Amino acid sequence: MYLRTDAIVISKRNFRENDRIITFYTRTYGKLDVLVKGIRKIENRFGSSLELFTYNEILLWEKRKGDLLILTQCQTKESFFKIRSDLKKIASAFYITDLARELTKDKDKNIDIFNLLFTFLYLLEKANKPEIIISSFQLRLLFILGFGPELDKCVNCKIVISKNIKYFSLQFGGIICNNCARSSSSNISLDHNTVMIMNKLIYAPLNSIENVIVSFVALKKIEHLFSLYIFYHMDKKMKSKKIIEKLIK
Ligand SMILES: [Zn+2]
Repeated sequence: MYLRTDAIVISKRNFRENDRIITFYTRTYGKLDVLVKGIRKIENRFGSSLELFTYNEILLWEKRKGDLLILTQCQTKESFFKIRSDLKKIASAFYITDLARELTKDKDKNIDIFNLLFTFLYLLEKANKPEIIISSFQLRLLFILGFGPELDKCVNCKIVISKNIKYFSLQFGGIICNNCARSSSSNISLDHNTVMIMNKLIYAPLNSIENVIVSFVALKKIEHLFSLYIFYHMDKKMKSKKIIEKLIK
């Protein structure tokens, strides 16, 4: 059976002598591992396409259901070459594709994740402040994955906390009032200002994310919270976390 879809290259690894396994995030099928035969030979029919982060239309062959998919055709629609010419942007794109790879399941179609990934690669290509773009990406991804944190009222008793925010509960997944904080075992400190910035990063229109005023200190706090949060709920430690730490030093 042949499958045709749009797909973003999110990782690749060598396989056998001349082959490679490429992980795509696809529009139609979610995340897929695909075998690309002969791609490591000097002359191969895929040429320079299939670089990391590229957006392609691909045709796959599946001999029997459940077999490893084989790439038969690939046409690059967007190479995002400006990302590749800037070290900070490469690191940022690596970070967001790594998140998409680590936090999603194979063959679990999610058009919102595909669109988020594509849109944020596009934004990164034009970005002057990639660290803000990736901070926004990671928060928005949490909502799509169903782990969006409560940032408006106490996650437990729903009381409006406004400026007196002191804690974020990893366990309950949101800001928590002082009262309820006593019954939550996993609180980390979080201030009102950081919560306001997080809300802006989540809801700002796509063309003005970089206008959100955010200090490196706040970005570090958000990154710290994000890391603890995905470790608490998804048992994932991101290898590329070090990259973002370097970016916002
Ligand atoms: Zn409460």
